[in-house]
Amino acid sequence: MGQLLRIVILLFGLWVVLRIVRKALSHRRSEASPLPPPADMLRCDYCGVFVPRDEAIEAHGKHYCNSQHANADPSGK
Ligand SMILES: [Zn+2]
Repeated sequence: MGQLLRIVILLFGLWVVLRIVRKALSHRRSEASPLPPPADMLRCDYCGVFVPRDEAIEAHGKHYCNSQHANADPSGK
């Protein structure tokens, strides 16, 4: 009977330790994953609208929100 009680206490202790470890790990994981960096935005040199870098049109060494503005900008020609 005494041995059974020891096993139960041991299992309970193990369960408590596992809970603490899991909690610590999940806490560390939430700290280690920061918010994604903000999208790299570029300003249209014609109208001043901000567009993501991968959507911006590059012309004459400047950036535009669309091809119409790239063609319409008199300072770019
Ligand atoms: Zn524009």
